[in-house]
Amino acid sequence: MQRIPLAIPNVGEAEAANLQKCIDDNFVSTVGPFVTQFEEGVAARHGSRHASAVAAGTMGLHLSLLSLGVGRDDLVLCPSFTFIATANAIAHASAMPWFVDIDPGSWSMSVDALRTILAEETERDARGALVRKGDGRRVAAIMPVYTLGTVAEMDAIGEIAREYGLPVIADAAAAIGVTFKGQPIGPLADLTVFSFNGNKTITTGGGGMVIGEDAALMARVKHLATTARVSPNYEHDEVGYNYRMTNLEAAVGCAQLGKLDAFIRRKQEIRAAYDEGFADISSVTPFPLPGDRGSTCWFSGLVFGDDAEISVQNACAALGEEGIEARPFWKPVHLQAPFAEAPCGSMAHTEDLWGRILTLPCSTLLTDSEQARVINAVRQILKH
Ligand SMILES: *Cc1c(COP(=O)(O)O)cnc(C)c1O
Repeated sequence: MQRIPLAIPNVGEAEAANLQKCIDDNFVSTVGPFVTQFEEGVAARHGSRHASAVAAGTMGLHLSLLSLGVGRDDLVLCPSFTFIATANAIAHASAMPWFVDIDPGSWSMSVDALRTILAEETERDARGALVRKGDGRRVAAIMPVYTLGTVAEMDAIGEIAREYGLPVIADAAAAIGVTFKGQPIGPLADLTVFSFNGNKTITTGGGGMVIGEDAALMARVKHLATTARVSPNYEHDEVGYNYRMTNLEAAVGCAQLGKLDAFIRRKQEIRAAYDEGFADISSVTPFPLPGDRGSTCWFSGLVFGDDAEISVQNACAALGEEGIEARPFWKPVHLQAPFAEAPCGSMAHTEDLWGRILTLPCSTLLTDSEQARVINAVRQILKH
């Protein structure tokens, strides 16, 4: 029986041809035509003028924070319900996350919780900086996450950010190709960051990209990514990073970008088939799909209700025995050892949700018959 993986890359001849071209032309490192082409393609797709390709999404988040002036002891408002890389990037910038609960209807940052924290738990210090009451730490940015490939409530978050004078960095790691109410997403945040890790909708093996509108800000991202080099003569004007994407990776990325629409369509079909396959089972509900936004349906799966007759852990084990890879989803970051001391608002929705989520195979390579096998197996398990 063929094993059915959770989320794996889908690469083929177009990627191989581009890689061969890199070899033929001897452009394999961080300079090369595919890097530029990939940057231009991703920027254009999301309505942004500028892009900087980096070696990982985490690095893109890190450089975005640094470029916007986030630094030592600053606080960055972000959800706890995210992949730990969001918080790691903040820590890499010597700052600390300040966790905000999620909206259960979208699994992205709760606008109400964000508003409450800013109104009740921050103040202006003597120099006019926005600081957290109690410890006086500066609040330096807001970092919403586009969970599952669905944009956060960016109208409201943008309004709040302007009111408080805070920059917004969107962790759009898994949201490549998404739109917001029919509009491109680039202009929604100061900087927006994608990941091309192997389990994302398109992959470069490993990689990331920052997009943005502000030419000076984006020049700063690129400068920091290329060791803060100011001339070819080994001159550097600050401590920089070696974070650039290679032409080999971008070669794969360019080929993948050409398939993005087909991949998103397939992800949406997979999600719809699961929704239909479990519609009659009252103990589980589908992942949220806020009607007013778009979603690229990066991951699919189920939310187990209180009346589910099996735990998510046991369901994963049972499916594993059937050769089906199913997994729980993100453990909230405020419950993880490195961030146990980070400031944290009420986590009622985050804590209620995370143990109930079962993610199911959703690779773009998943066949209809494989998906039928998954649906049957899950239905069997849920009936016990
Ligand atoms: C994948 C992911 C990241 C990290 O991206 P890498 O390219 O693996 O560094 C960050 N945030 C979220 C929400 C992600 O899903």
